Amino acid sequence: MNRDEVDLVVLTYLHGDHIGGNLIDGRPAFPNARYLVSRADWDYWIAPNVLNVNSAVQEQAAPLEGLNVLDLIEGEFAVTGELTTLPTPGHTPGHISLVIQSAGERGFILGDVAHSPAQAEYTDWSPAFDIDPEISLVTRRAIFDRFEAEGSLISAGHMPEQCFGRLVREGGRRIWQVA
Ligand SMILES: [Zn+2]
Repeated sequence: MNRDEVDLVVLTYLHGDHIGGNLIDGRPAFPNARYLVSRADWDYWIAPNVLNVNSAVQEQAAPLEGLNVLDLIEGEFAVTGELTTLPTPGHTPGHISLVIQSAGERGFILGDVAHSPAQAEYTDWSPAFDIDPEISLVTRRAIFDRFEAEGSLISAGHMPEQCFGRLVREGGRRIWQVA
């Protein structure tokens, strides 16, 4: 697939390790794409006191607005018939996950709701990167209970070795099972 065939980029939030591919030499890396960002995350990162100390956001996110490729979204937003955003705040104020409903199956793109398999059991473990660790654990608890109940396939970018898995019970403990 060529870059100009991509028509949609959904950003789960605006940390540097999740936005680095937005722009090349100040131009959209995907010239025919709309870039979707949650309004709550945009408002947080674009505030001058935050933006001024975040070179990654200055270089890879802030220009999207002036390039007229940015769409700000709120709540549970239907991106397509198969793709819906889900607010999952805590890691950042406007962090979102994505629900994929397709061909009778459901999957989730988790973003950074969790970083370690240990958080399957210890949902109250919040890494230092979580901007609001109190909210992040409430989010993690709720969404992990849902994933376990639904048996959903999850994509979690920071899980070691293999980023696709499910949350299942084993000997009374909830574990991250690689899919
Ligand atoms: Zn991350």
